[in-house]
Amino acid sequence: GARPVGFIGLGNMGVPMVANLVRAGHPVVAFDVSADARDRAVAVGARVVPTAHRVAEAADTVILMLPNSTIVTDVVHGLAGALSDRSRLVDMSSSEPLRTRELAEELAPAGVRLVDAPVSGGVAGAEAGRLTIMAGGDPADLAAVEPVLEALGRVVRVGPVGAGHAVKALNNLLSATHLWITAEAMTVGERFGLDPAVMLEVFNGSSGRSGSTETKYPRYILPGSFDSGFGLRLMLKDMQIATRLAEQVGAPSVLGEHAVERWDSAAQALDPSADHTRIAAWVAEG
Ligand code: NAD
Repeated sequence: GARPVGFIGLGNMGVPMVANLVRAGHPVVAFDVSADARDRAVAVGARVVPTAHRVAEAADTVILMLPNSTIVTDVVHGLAGALSDRSRLVDMSSSEPLRTRELAEELAPAGVRLVDAPVSGGVAGAEAGRLTIMAGGDPADLAAVEPVLEALGRVVRVGPVGAGHAVKALNNLLSATHLWITAEAMTVGERFGLDPAVMLEVFNGSSGRSGSTETKYPRYILPGSFDSGFGLRLMLKDMQIATRLAEQVGAPSVLGEHAVERWDSAAQALDPSADHTRIAAWVAEG
């Protein structure tokens, strides 16, 4: 049969992504530290193994969908011995671009290839197989993994290794800042007596529109479900990656730094598992 695809990190995003790989005909061998997560992956057709190392023994292409760069680096170091010059690691997490480059350089002498392929589109996009995949890496490495990634969404080649993680963080800096200012505008409007649905209709037909006005407000915030599946702490991490990158390249982001501070206080006050869309209620409460 076909060589399996490895998958490490079976959370809100990982499980629906695994389901789409299986549906597209790729056998998946998977691992997560959480037993519940492993059960969910089995339910969508993956074979789970007891360690990440066993994933890398069984598969040449190994996808990582983990919380952050520190965990990605630890997990990859734990794969030593199972990796070879046929191994291709695809970090689809929202990681730190400079750490991704370092990791790629560290792996290169052994012939282990690393590409970064973070995504946007959220849990809904993962379920639908319609993620936007921001792929960074050598063209030959990207060509080798694209047949697998195509089961998950649309691949956009964005540059050398690390480029995907950079553009992903910048996207989320924009997204988080849009969401905060949208919450402020909606709160002002409501206190003045405007109807939220009417405001959204106007913004969405005007230059104030964004993913927040088009999707987050109507789907998760106005109905009060706050269940987009993207955690507030993960969003904060992405904003911090973007502002750190801004400093590293000598183009500090003033508004971005401020947004990080505000989101950070919310993250400290709210439940650690809070969805990022909760920020709208936080802003509305002042
Ligand atoms: P999640 O917290 O739901 O899932 C992460 C999974 O990683 C968990 O199941 C956890 O048990 C597992 N894990 C942690 N440490 C591990 C280890 N050492 N070994 C194996 N497994 C380990 O997060 P998510 O929402 O699925 O997001 C995953 C990544 O994708 C993050 O980097 C996030 O920023 C990014 N992302 C999320 C969304 C979204 O809408 N949720 C959208 C785009 C990008």
